[in-house]
Amino acid sequence: MGKLDGKVALITGGNSGIGLAAARLFVSEGAKVVITGRNAATLEAAVRELGNESALAVQADAADPDSSAKAAAAAAERFGRLDIVYANAGISGSTPLGSTELSVFEEVLRVNVTGVFFTVQAALPYLQHGASVILTGSVLAGAGRPGGSAYAASKGAISSMTKVLAAELSPKGIRVNNVVPGATRTPIWGQYTPEGWAQLEAGMSRSIPLNRLGEPEEIAKVALFLASDDSSFIQGADISADGGAGAAPLGAPIYRQA
Ligand code: NAP
Repeated sequence: MGKLDGKVALITGGNSGIGLAAARLFVSEGAKVVITGRNAATLEAAVRELGNESALAVQADAADPDSSAKAAAAAAERFGRLDIVYANAGISGSTPLGSTELSVFEEVLRVNVTGVFFTVQAALPYLQHGASVILTGSVLAGAGRPGGSAYAASKGAISSMTKVLAAELSPKGIRVNNVVPGATRTPIWGQYTPEGWAQLEAGMSRSIPLNRLGEPEEIAKVALFLASDDSSFIQGADISADGGAGAAPLGAPIYRQA
């Protein structure tokens, strides 16, 4: 018996990285999934892999409330209900002080903050008592990474919004929690040669107490926990999966004595 038998999940950004790993895991636990993204080719490939009976792709821009409404409606229409909303879609973006265009800054906030709010709002009419909403923060909300003002602010906003939405949805018996990943091996880091990636990864690992990046499947398991009734008394929480980078940064290899 799967942990999500009979449940239907909407996963934004379900065609890549953490969202795709979550779609695979949710389906393996008995869920039907509706995945969104902008890229039609990777959406199609994901559904081919996940199986037509278990997955539906909706090409939708998370920054556009009409797209979100379309995705939520498609989930209810195709699978008859909606129990889980995993607002995972997000973009990074370099916004150094002194040389950042307004449009770049605003795009990060539009996708990572406004888009998340309107995804949940679009899904709300379909959600019943016992539903689970999962948002996506980042360890970078609190790390002071230079050049990351918009991204850090967007993910800090998600942590704040989680608490408000949890308060607003508690009377309906709907839970809202925030998965907070640390550096995870996904395409969000951009295109690298194998050598370039190895170098970046080695550098990042030195600032993570567990001395490695996370795998998308490790973040998906946290999302599964929050999606399932295993987390039935967890409400409004930030749950980190970051190898200790947020909680114990001074335990990172970079600070250890040789
Ligand atoms: P990823 O592989 O680049 O996936 C991002 C997903 O978001 C893609 O499926 C992408 O699909 C979708 N997306 C982006 N903009 C969108 C838009 N406007 N409308 C609809 N979909 C959109 O990266 P990931 O690492 O799995 O990221 C997933 C989430 O985890 C993000 O919120 C990210 O900020 C967060 N996170 C990641 C890390 C990490 O190190 N990887 C760490 C902390 C937090 P399309 O390109 O098809 O639109």
